[in-house]
Amino acid sequence: MADSEPAPILVWLREDLRLADNPALRAAADAGAPVLLLYVLDEAVPDRLRMGGAQRWWLHHSLEALGADVARAGGALVLRRGDPRVIVPGVAEAAGASAVHWNRRYLSFQREADDDVAEALAGQDIEVATFAGSLLYEPGEVTTGSGGTYKVFSPYYKALKAKGEPRAPLPRVTKATAPEGGPDSDELASWNLLPAKPNWAEGFEPVWTPGERGAQARLRDWLGTNAARYANERNRADLDTTSRLSPHLHFGEVSPVTVWHEVKARLADGTIPDDHADGFLSEVAWRDFSYAVLAEFPQMLERPYDERFAAFAYEAPGEEVEAWRRGRTGYPIVDAGMRQLWQTGFMHNRVRMITASFLVKDLLADPEIGIDWFWDTLVCADAANNTASWQWIAGTGVDASPYFRVFNPTGQGKKFDPEGDYVRRWVPELAKLPKRYVHEPWTAPEKALAEAGVTLGEDYPAPIVDHAERRDEALARYRAIK
Ligand code: FAD
Repeated sequence: MADSEPAPILVWLREDLRLADNPALRAAADAGAPVLLLYVLDEAVPDRLRMGGAQRWWLHHSLEALGADVARAGGALVLRRGDPRVIVPGVAEAAGASAVHWNRRYLSFQREADDDVAEALAGQDIEVATFAGSLLYEPGEVTTGSGGTYKVFSPYYKALKAKGEPRAPLPRVTKATAPEGGPDSDELASWNLLPAKPNWAEGFEPVWTPGERGAQARLRDWLGTNAARYANERNRADLDTTSRLSPHLHFGEVSPVTVWHEVKARLADGTIPDDHADGFLSEVAWRDFSYAVLAEFPQMLERPYDERFAAFAYEAPGEEVEAWRRGRTGYPIVDAGMRQLWQTGFMHNRVRMITASFLVKDLLADPEIGIDWFWDTLVCADAANNTASWQWIAGTGVDASPYFRVFNPTGQGKKFDPEGDYVRRWVPELAKLPKRYVHEPWTAPEKALAEAGVTLGEDYPAPIVDHAERRDEALARYRAIK
């Protein structure tokens, strides 16, 4: 650092990989000092919450995009791997930083790490400033009349809306002065975040553009096309009507506040009708709700909220679970979802619910198995949303769908993929089956199967379980713990 230069401010980025509406970065840039950005590949997180393969793929590309944007703005992004408790104070010291800024995180293990870093920095006489940047409202801001945490979404959402509009987005940081001679950075490639051989992420590339620009393009595109149909079509697996913003929101490439205000602007100018805007914003608010719940009940990261389920007689994982993972259960909508997940790192929300219900209530497997598989394979894997959603489906969480609600995979397929196009796309073996059999090929006459070129049990599996029998068994096991 040159003698005359003011001490830099270090901005520790985590799930906020963006220059627009980034409160921690904005405050640092506004302070007029040089700004150094730091991303730490956290190697001290609990084992189970280490980034999965799909997330690591995303992170690589997102950091690459961010590094280029930061360089264009004149700043510097330092990459380091290890325990943030060691790295952040070390980089702050080496940079001669006067302050460290970050946007707050809310899960128990994240808060503990952040508190430890803050304490270490205080010991070094380095100021710490933290900001709210990743949610519409932080846990503890939307509370019941008596100040408690809502356990049911509808009143939570009502209370959220009653607070008025979330804060306005902050302007993008377009100019950042990097300190002279800042600390060294790792080479991104040395982190080996991308799969080598086999490259299982080939199918991700045509689908996703990680990074802030990709997020903005996705948002603009969705606002101009499917947003006006959202409420009617969001459950249709065959129509890509949802925003697919989940990985961008998870990595913080776009802020929920930005999304909220963009939708509200389209509502005001009449491009998006009221019920569609509200239907969508309520989903964005579910994300806040998951965080509020996980912040209040951190034990959910390890076990079901409803402790009766600790005694549930789940089956040990075996071939059936493996068939589920690989999309070879013989239930076309389940297999289509699991293959979409494997090939693209994403699955439609309705199909997430169907596949999750199938794992827990047809295969009688512990939802934790599903949580771990989604964690590894989803590009949007998010500890709060994933945990809360699985526990909702499994009937074990707060505001959960009752355990006795068992999704019928055939009925769900017919309802939410009425032409069978979603199945045909992801299960090409069944592409030629007529619509009436595509969700239940085992009911097709020999002739129809032969004409479609399908031999059940060879080209495509016969159902690995009988849904009606397993449903009864699941309910019997539930009655035993009720
Ligand atoms: P849109 O319908 O366009 O919704 C907009 C945004 O709202 C999403 O990007 C997401 O951030 C948020 N959102 C939507 N639905 C939900 C919900 N039910 N709960 C919380 N936030 C929501 N979402 C994740 O982001 N990460 C996960 O790891 C995750 N795991 C899930 C596991 C299961 C078993 C289930 C049933 C759902 C899970 N979800 C998860 C929630 C939901 O399926 C995805 O957020 C959604 O499908 C993402 O698609 P989208 O961006 O097109 O959503």
